[in-house]
Amino acid sequence: MTNQGDIDTGSVDPVTIPRPEHIISRASISSSALKVLYRLKEAGFESYLVGGGVRDLLLGREPKDFDVGTNATPDEIRALFRNCRLIGRRFRLAHVRYGREVIEVATFRARHDADSDDNESAQSDEGRLLRDNVYGSLEDDVWRRDFTVNALYYDIRDFSVVDYVGGIDDLETGTLRVIGDPEQRYREDPVRMLRAVRFAAKLGFRNNPDSEAAMYELGHLLEDIPAARLFEEVLKLFLGGCAVTSFELLRHYNLFGYLFPMTEEALGQEEEGFPHTFVLRALENTDKRLAEGKPVTPAFLYAALLWEPVRLRMQELLDEGASPLEAAQLAGNQITAEQVQATSLPKRFSFPMREIWMLQSRFERRRGKAPYRLLEHPRFRAAYDFMLLRSEVGEAPQELAEWWTDFQTLNSSEREKMVEASPAKKKRRRRRKRKPAPAADD
Ligand code: ATP
Ligand code: MG
Repeated sequence: MTNQGDIDTGSVDPVTIPRPEHIISRASISSSALKVLYRLKEAGFESYLVGGGVRDLLLGREPKDFDVGTNATPDEIRALFRNCRLIGRRFRLAHVRYGREVIEVATFRARHDADSDDNESAQSDEGRLLRDNVYGSLEDDVWRRDFTVNALYYDIRDFSVVDYVGGIDDLETGTLRVIGDPEQRYREDPVRMLRAVRFAAKLGFRNNPDSEAAMYELGHLLEDIPAARLFEEVLKLFLGGCAVTSFELLRHYNLFGYLFPMTEEALGQEEEGFPHTFVLRALENTDKRLAEGKPVTPAFLYAALLWEPVRLRMQELLDEGASPLEAAQLAGNQITAEQVQATSLPKRFSFPMREIWMLQSRFERRRGKAPYRLLEHPRFRAAYDFMLLRSEVGEAPQELAEWWTDFQTLNSSEREKMVEASPAKKKRRRRRKRKPAPAADD
């Protein structure tokens, strides 16, 4: 058996769409991508704009980034560009950097036999591609791409678009179609299922029925994918502006549970819409912030997605006799440790995530110096936004959220009034004053 399934490569004629018949203009391609394309061409190599760049330009959308395909090998690419780094083991490719922009340059891939296991290619027992570094021609490369709409090539020589797989038709009908046998292609790389969800959400496309049927069944294959790679995909799914749709599609295809197992379990035990509404609100909020050009962070996203598991664990620990502080700390640590088995979360995000959780109980302390101290905490803003979300779904009192909103906006004398001790406390304080005073109560 070969990796190509039943695709008969080599005997398919491409459709070529000449420049006057499509809408891609060089003016909408980044100057860095153009530089890469021309430099390769001038060095005598083939060079094409490929992948999402071509797809998005044909749809009249602004591409997120630009990918280039070439017959130059990674070493040949490196020799041409000073600003170039070779990355990846499973899939070696070159990153050419211009300032903040990175152009991904991939050498054309060719088919290779399933039973080979050498430096260039290897496959696991389940059919997963462990290495995919056998180089070939454009005609070979087409069949290694995931979806037909991602397999269109823009030729820098004559500005035509080359289509071997019916990608142009699928763009027109809004269809995501796996190239080749969907089950086999998903087994080769299960992350393609997450990519199917992401593109469906982002482009508003539908998975074609064959491609979709395999997805319902193969989610478990994600268990073998390194947690760090899944983290990257989670960010693309949830911090790409279409978090709500991505979430709904992931759940629809039974994939969400492989990314966030504890959240999936908590969602199964929901009462009165919680925690489902909370997660949805958080994701809506993320999409809205992105649409307004505001920053978003994986720390906040993970804090929201894991909040219900943390709450449930906290309750268990309290029932076992832990103090509230202990329960909060332990629950945060345990849930984080369990989550990173599925999708990793670098410490620079997990640390602030846990702070957001830990700060939640401090919003309840509204007398004396405590509110001022909380306000000065470097994570106050994120923790406050998080508390607002909780109050929106009724998990924290509305009145608490309003109090903190006021507290931030009022002037200092009005604030003083807000934090004044309650009459009962004042009495206690007066009584204490008569005795030698213990440490001030806040
Ligand atoms: P985005 O808009 O997110 O950049 P993209 O389609 O460009 O979408 P990339 O991850 O940048 O996605 O990959 C570029 C191209 O490489 C894809 O369009 C596809 O042709 C190919 N590709 C990427 N990942 C895979 C994969 N796992 N399996 C097969 N082909 C892939
Ligand atoms: Mg891309």
